[in-house]
Amino acid sequence: MAAIKEVAKVRHEKVIRAIAAHLRSNFADVAASTAIQLGELDHPVSSELLVANIGPNDKRAVVLGAIFTSLGKLGYEAASDRLVPLLDKQNDDGWKKVLEESVNAVGRIGNPRAVDPLLEWRKRQPGGGWGGRWGGGGGGGGGNQSGRLWGAVDRALKSITGGDEETTNDWEKWWKANRADLMANATVTYRCKVTWERYDGPAGKRNPCPHAPDKGHTSCSQVIRTRMIPEPDAPAAPPGPPPGGGGGGNP
Ligand SMILES: [Zn+2]
Repeated sequence: MAAIKEVAKVRHEKVIRAIAAHLRSNFADVAASTAIQLGELDHPVSSELLVANIGPNDKRAVVLGAIFTSLGKLGYEAASDRLVPLLDKQNDDGWKKVLEESVNAVGRIGNPRAVDPLLEWRKRQPGGGWGGRWGGGGGGGGGNQSGRLWGAVDRALKSITGGDEETTNDWEKWWKANRADLMANATVTYRCKVTWERYDGPAGKRNPCPHAPDKGHTSCSQVIRTRMIPEPDAPAAPPGPPPGGGGGGNP
């Protein structure tokens, strides 16, 4: 583990790829620690490789949890598009607990594209179209875990949009009425490929990287995400099991 941390101080895409290989370690705690390390390396490849290793780790909840935490922290919006469809696994026993963390990551990333699929998910739940936030619990398919997932989806919708509605119907009305304004006032977060620093700019404007303003530098910047409201200071997730915990001892 110490060796991985040392190497991670060298910032290069190749280093990220070398580190990410450990996401497939036979030791779940090594893979989970690797996922947390990648969350510190602000590069689109970190996010891409974390996403690519969801499938290979789909039987290891502790690794998945760490992957989702890091994807949320990194905040690259492309990851959100891959996380939302995981909601289809809600009846998969191995996924019930960890799915909430994936939805928390979706909320933290804040991609506006996630709103419609999250609302669609609510509609598919028992009583979801008309019921309030307790609707998912009473309809027979309920139980604690789906109630928690419902709560996570709710938090994600609030985090992405700033809205606070009760029923899915109200959410849809609200979203339809406010979407255009929210998008017009959105903030784009960029990353400079040279300095690895982030900067923000208003959506719909050209926002050259400030690291070389005299040159009107633009080729060094890449979009991380567009967010309609600022990310809440505190992560939305309630305290869960610590990432990397619960495994065996360090090899
Ligand atoms: Zn730059």
